[in-house]
Amino acid sequence: MTAVSAIDTSTLRLGIMAGDGIGAEIVPVARQIVDAALSVVHAPPVDWVELALGSSAIETHGTPIPEETLDVLGTLPGWILGPHDSASYPAEFRDRLTPGGVIRKKFDLFANIRPAAAFEGVKSTVPDMDLVIVRENTEGLYADRNMVVGSGEFMPTPDVALAVGVFTRAACERIARAAFALATRRRNHVTIVHKANVLTLTTGLFRDVCRTVAADYPHVVVDDEHVDAMAAHLVRRGGDFDVVVTENMFGDILSDLAGELSGSLGTAPSINASESRVMAQAAHGAAPDIAGKNRANPTALVLSSAMMLDWLGEARSDPVLSLAARRIREAVRTTIGSGVATADLGGLASTSEFAEVLYARTIRR
Ligand code: ATP
Repeated sequence: MTAVSAIDTSTLRLGIMAGDGIGAEIVPVARQIVDAALSVVHAPPVDWVELALGSSAIETHGTPIPEETLDVLGTLPGWILGPHDSASYPAEFRDRLTPGGVIRKKFDLFANIRPAAAFEGVKSTVPDMDLVIVRENTEGLYADRNMVVGSGEFMPTPDVALAVGVFTRAACERIARAAFALATRRRNHVTIVHKANVLTLTTGLFRDVCRTVAADYPHVVVDDEHVDAMAAHLVRRGGDFDVVVTENMFGDILSDLAGELSGSLGTAPSINASESRVMAQAAHGAAPDIAGKNRANPTALVLSSAMMLDWLGEARSDPVLSLAARRIREAVRTTIGSGVATADLGGLASTSEFAEVLYARTIRR
């Protein structure tokens, strides 16, 4: 991990990468809304650093994730990452780790925090859902993440494919601590998701380490569920959960399920964080089918940026940043609640029309 001391803590310098597909339309909206919210709460403006990433970086730098981009990110406490469409890259880049994956690995962004909460104006299958999935992001059953060299997926013969799952006590412990700290700021309830009846040693270690960490948080109610049962519980009684902590692949799958049950892909935010850095990244992809059509919903990235401000506010003990985050959430809520919505939510607003209303509601004093 890059040295924490390299991070400039005086002014808020944040990275911004448009990425691919709808990134060019939604990233500028997220930036504008962050700027507006900070000005309303009288915080100094962000010093944005635009960085190359994705298809355009292949043209300018010969790679979707240039070294210069990584070097500059190493000096920053946070950044907004637009979506990338790695499937569209030339073959030589397609089977490499995605740009987002490279960034997560390089900066050890071990906690993927993905809230799923219904809000007014968005049709929801589980309207009382208000939970956060805390997903371990560096190891587990995702073989592309858990090796220093090579991949944990390999084929000794053309007819045999193997994958390695990695679970370390240290990684289980730090994600458990992130989950319990978050639950302490929410409704004091953590659900540990595993599959210890089958993956006994690996996900069993995950469960047991989470249980050990729980002892330091006696005010938090703890339960645990097998991942398959959890999928059913989310559909049937998704409103019963607060913080859900789980390994990488289970978290990936459950957070898409929870996101969809609570609302839509276009509204599902996330951050990826380490002890010292935070990356705002929408849960959705580059949506190439609607790119350039002024139809994309910027909500997920705007809400991800608000989560980034919250995280920075806490890390820097600066409540003004959290106030700005709250301002953004409120503006999103009232904009969509008033019936202004993009096509994915059944509305008629274009990206720019939605952004205009959202900006006006953010800036209103
Ligand atoms: P990835 O694997 O990178 O997540 P994907 O192809 O699985 O990508 P998305 O790019 O997220 O998925 O797109 C899935 C569908 O959701 C597409 O039809 C896309 O248009 C729609 N979609 C995704 N994000 C948005 C958004 N912000 N606004 C509107 N529609 C969206």
